[in-house]
Amino acid sequence: MAEPAFACKRCGHCCQGEGGIVLTRYDRERLAAHLGLEIAAMLEQFAESAGEKQRLRIGPDGFCVFFRHGVGCGVHPGRPDICRAWPYFRGNLVDATSWEMIQTDCPGVVNAAGHESFVDEGVDYLRQHGLIHEPGPEAPLALVLPEALKSRIRK
Ligand code: SF4
Ligand code: SF4
Repeated sequence: MAEPAFACKRCGHCCQGEGGIVLTRYDRERLAAHLGLEIAAMLEQFAESAGEKQRLRIGPDGFCVFFRHGVGCGVHPGRPDICRAWPYFRGNLVDATSWEMIQTDCPGVVNAAGHESFVDEGVDYLRQHGLIHEPGPEAPLALVLPEALKSRIRK
């Protein structure tokens, strides 16, 4: 069997840094339900506004407010789409240079498997998990794919 193009090493690097985890309406509903909170209370405690959008807050350690060192995501079953989709973001699928560059920060991406395999695996994964978004005010841009990728057949 071919080597997988991605196998998460659980290093937590993708949970570090500010601003990337934008919440769609469905993300807000799912996360609030997971936490047993009303949506407004969940947003009050764990999110902040970024223009028209809501995004997860960062803790004093520079990681997502839900990240638990040594454990991982503290809301794994309720995590947002953008977290479910990484590293299969549009930029990394359409551009082999971006795919090369993310390997510095994401050791789960297997360089030896090659970019084409990464794209095949990624598009399949995004399809299977309902993570491809249509354009819209709330759509995470990283999950809005060009038509050529949406209709791609595994090579
Ligand atoms: S940076 Fe990559 S390998 Fe590390 S936890 Fe995130 S997805 Fe997994
Ligand atoms: S919600 Fe979970 S997976 Fe997403 S950034 Fe926060 S800790 Fe990481």
